[in-house]
Amino acid sequence: GSVRRLNTAAALEELVTPSVQIAYTQHLIDGKFVDAASGKTFPTYDPRTGEVIAHVAEGDAEDINRAVAAARKAFDEGPWPKMTPYERSRVLLRFADLVEKHSEELAALETWDNGKPYEQAAKAELPMLVRLFHYYAGWADKIHGLTVPADGNHHVQTLHEPIGVAGQIIPWNFPLLMFAWKVGPALACGNTIVLKTAEQTPLTALYVAKLFHEAGLPPGVLNVVSGFGPTAGAALASHMDVDKLAFTGSTDTGKIVLELAAKSNLKPVTLELGGKSPFIICEDADIDKAVELAHFALFFNQGQCCCAGSRTFVHEHIYDEFIEKAKARALRRTVGDPFKKGIEQGPQIDPEQFEKVLRYIRSGIESNAKLECGGDKLGTKGYFIQPTVFSNVTDDMLIAQDEIFGPVQSILKFKDLDEVIKRANNTRYGLAAGVFTKNIDTANTLTRALRAGTVWVNCFDVFDAAIPFGGYKMSGIGREKGIYSLHNYLQVKAVVSPLKNPAWL
Ligand code: NAD
Repeated sequence: GSVRRLNTAAALEELVTPSVQIAYTQHLIDGKFVDAASGKTFPTYDPRTGEVIAHVAEGDAEDINRAVAAARKAFDEGPWPKMTPYERSRVLLRFADLVEKHSEELAALETWDNGKPYEQAAKAELPMLVRLFHYYAGWADKIHGLTVPADGNHHVQTLHEPIGVAGQIIPWNFPLLMFAWKVGPALACGNTIVLKTAEQTPLTALYVAKLFHEAGLPPGVLNVVSGFGPTAGAALASHMDVDKLAFTGSTDTGKIVLELAAKSNLKPVTLELGGKSPFIICEDADIDKAVELAHFALFFNQGQCCCAGSRTFVHEHIYDEFIEKAKARALRRTVGDPFKKGIEQGPQIDPEQFEKVLRYIRSGIESNAKLECGGDKLGTKGYFIQPTVFSNVTDDMLIAQDEIFGPVQSILKFKDLDEVIKRANNTRYGLAAGVFTKNIDTANTLTRALRAGTVWVNCFDVFDAAIPFGGYKMSGIGREKGIYSLHNYLQVKAVVSPLKNPAWL
């Protein structure tokens, strides 16, 4: 039917022209758009075609120095950290309103630069962005310390102060949401920021940074620099005047920035890294629902999710039926121009990721996993990959161990709970996990036993602003979102003074 037609290469030939102008391609430093100090630019590409969308200022150490100097001045001299929390809250609320007003352009820009389905960006991600800034606007005036009943005749209170200049490095898979997770709590706590975008997706952060200034954010509070990791990113991670570093990206790069932070000024670091999350489907599951959820858990965002349910564990009694249905669902997945209505899957982000995913598919075939469907690229241009399902996957295979970050589902068979707990936890990662069962005891056993920062029970990828997110093991350090993220952006100061002639002596 029509669904199959969408999956053909022909459907990729006539592409929609995005109806948004590229307005901002320079760094935003100290409230002004400026060229790179070197004058250099780099191209950002449309993943549907590989064609250049725009040339963007290419930042390096000198641009980071300038941005950090602006953020330092805005922190040390104010007004941002000295404004009342209520005033800060109102800036965040005005910003959220502006994002809402510009949602369509922002979603179009995000789709153009990243390749994700426009409907996903417009209907799910932009509303989450707005919600997140409302949430942190609500926190801004509710951050306070404690009065502590210490021994001795001393009055002890704690002050929760902003930590200073925050350096933030974000990836390309959710450019706007990663911006929000980092910037929302940092600003609510009164910090100033230098944020480096991913080189694949520099466009939307510049747009929203402009909106922040329209909302009344003072110059220098939020600085956005575009550029590459080893140059601009490394300069930010090792900067002596940056007081805190927050990073999202791969585990390998996470190790590098942690080392840079340690070797420079020992700034505290939070890391959101990779994953190989298990999704466990128990014997009692409603198979149709489990198939749909497991499909979503893996294929959402072209499989480019750090928490993707990339090891689908299925109980042996329902395994065969599950495989048939999972394969049928993957074959029905609509792949094509992400601007078109009804498209579930767009292209992978760039040629490197595209080739990497295809290499993992070949590795799955070579290691004798059974290729149920897909297994190849799609079309003649851009970075489209067929939704791919492997069954008979065993724990030792590379496709069961490494983060593929693409539309490749690996299905593994299990017999009992003890076994699946051991196997699910047998990974260097611990970002997320999913459990599908009707049995409350099974759910309780699994949620306690799984070593992961999030366990979704009978759901997956639920990402409210209030829900903390982060990893165990090599998936990261610290938590973002929710109340937990505030701790990343605060210093605690104990203020101690003697109580002279207290009334009770
Ligand atoms: P990456 O680590 O190469 O890039 C992420 C960011 O780090 C980019 O801004 C990049 O420019 C920067 N960077 C690269 N090298 C650097 C260096 N030497 N010093 C400083 N900064 C540097 O990651 P990627 O391959 O582009 O993105 C995919 C990875 O990100 C996946 O492994 C995925 O799991 C992970 N990710 C994790 C989360 C999470 O929340 N845990 C979210 C999204 C992506």
